[in-house]
Amino acid sequence: MQPTGKNQSNFEYDNEEAFRINIGTMEKSGKRRWVYPKKPSGKFTNYRSYVAYFLLAILVILPFIKLPNGNPLFKFDILAREFILFGFPFFTSDFFLLAIGMITSIIFIVLFTMAYGRLFCGWICPQTIFLEMVFRKIEYAIEGDRAKQMRLDKQEWDEEKIRKRLLKWTLFTLISFLIANVFLAYIIGLDALYDLMVNGPIENFSAFFGLLIFTGAFYFVFAWFREQACTMVCPYGRLQGVLIDSQTINVTYDFKRGESTTGRAKFKRHEDRKTLGKGDCIDCGQCVVVCPTGIDIRNGIQLECVNCTACIDACDDVMEKVGLPLGLIRYASEDNIIKGEKFKFTKRLAVYTFALILLLVAMSSFILTRPDVESKYLKVPGTDYKVEGDFYVNQFEYTLYNKTNANQDVKIRLLSHKKAKVLMFAGENALTLSKGEIIQGRFYLKIPMDEVTSYKEKIIIGLVNENGQIIDRYETSFSAPYKYE
Ligand code: SF4
Ligand code: SF4
Repeated sequence: MQPTGKNQSNFEYDNEEAFRINIGTMEKSGKRRWVYPKKPSGKFTNYRSYVAYFLLAILVILPFIKLPNGNPLFKFDILAREFILFGFPFFTSDFFLLAIGMITSIIFIVLFTMAYGRLFCGWICPQTIFLEMVFRKIEYAIEGDRAKQMRLDKQEWDEEKIRKRLLKWTLFTLISFLIANVFLAYIIGLDALYDLMVNGPIENFSAFFGLLIFTGAFYFVFAWFREQACTMVCPYGRLQGVLIDSQTINVTYDFKRGESTTGRAKFKRHEDRKTLGKGDCIDCGQCVVVCPTGIDIRNGIQLECVNCTACIDACDDVMEKVGLPLGLIRYASEDNIIKGEKFKFTKRLAVYTFALILLLVAMSSFILTRPDVESKYLKVPGTDYKVEGDFYVNQFEYTLYNKTNANQDVKIRLLSHKKAKVLMFAGENALTLSKGEIIQGRFYLKIPMDEVTSYKEKIIIGLVNENGQIIDRYETSFSAPYKYE
C-alpha cells in the first residue's frame, strides 16, 4: 500500500519514505523514543477487553483443573522431562508428536496470518494482553493519560512523582510476581507450587529462584521493554512481509477515501470537502497518538503494527464528531480498499487449509490411539527356532514403555495362536512398570506344531493389563522349519 502524505508518527523522519527503513520508536542515534499512547476507548477496545479478561481467567484457572486420572491439563516441566498436553503425558520418545505439533502450528500460523493478518497479535498474544489490558491500565489509573504521563516524566522528583512512581512500580512488581506464579504452576505443577508456598523458599530454593527470574523478566518486559518485544524481538512480526498479500485482512487506512484527490486536510465547519477534493482524513493525528507502537497507520502496513485496533476506535470517534462515515481506518484488505473487492478464499489458502486439516487429523489420531503402554517385540538376533516336544520355540526380546503417570501391571500374551505359551526368562508372570518407565527383557514363545502353517508364521503379540484388557498389539513373525513353505 502506498504511503500517503505527511506522517505524524513519533519518529522524526528525513523524508516521507524513511519509516520503511526505521523503527518508529527509535531515534536516529539508536536511542529509544518512549511511547506515551493515549488511552484508547471505543467499540473494539471494549471487545478486546472482554476477550483479554476471558483469556486471562482461563490462563489462571487451567493449572487448578485436574483430570480424573490425577493429571493436570498442561504441564511443561523441562527439568524433570515431564510434559502433559490436554491431560496426555508425553515422554522423550514422543518427540515425533511434538515435531508434528510444531509443523501443524507453523502451518496454522501461516494460514491464519495469510487470511487475517496479525489478528493474533492484537487479540490473543499474551504480550499484548498483559501490556495493554493489565500494566498499561494500571499506569493510566495512577499517572493519568498521555499528556499527564509526559508531564510527569519531565517533572522533577517531587513528592507527587515519587509517590506515583513508587505505587506503580510496587503494583507492577506484585503483578509480575503473580504472573510468574501462574507460569510456574504450568511448569512445576500446582502441587509443587503449593509446597513452595507452604515450606518456604529455603527448602525449595530452585523453584523459588525460578520464580524470582520469572518475576524479574515479566517486570522488565512489561514495565520497560514493552512494544520493543513486538518490534525488535518477536519473529512473527518479521514474517509478515512474506505471509500477507493484497487479500489479507489487516487494520488498514482507507487512503482512497482519506486522501481523495487533493489529500488530507484540517476540518473546517460548513466546508464541502468532496467538491474541493479533500479527503475524509482531517489530519487530527488521533490515530497516531493512540498507537502503542508509535507509528502512523496512514503510511500503510508496517511491521510495527500489532493490529491492536486502537487507531480504528480513535478515528471512528473523530469521524463521528465531524459527521463523516465511520471506518476510515478499519479491518480491510488492500484489494478491498483499492478495488472494493470482498474477501476471497484463494487457491493458496485452500492448499494450506487442506494441509492443516490433514495434519490435525494425523495428530489427533496419534494422540487418541496412543496405548498406555507401548510394546515392541523382536526376535533375538542370531537365534533360530527350536523343537521342544510338539512345540516350536523362538526367543523374543521385548521393550515396554509406560506412557502414563501411574504404575502399570501388564502381561505378554500371544493373541494369534490359542494354544501358544509365553515363558518369561526371569520367570515373572506379570511385569510392573512405574510411570514413564521403559523396561526390556526376553521370553520364549512356544507354538504347537499343529497351529503353525508357515516357516515365517505371522503372529500377533498382545499386552494385557491387570483387568485383562488388551492395551497394545504388535504384529511380527515366528520362525518355523522350511517344510511349511
Ligand atoms: S484519526 Fe482519522 S481523521 Fe484523524 S488523522 Fe487519523 S485517519 Fe485522519
Ligand atoms: S497502527 Fe493502529 S492497529 Fe497498528 S499498532 Fe498502531 S494503533 Fe494498533
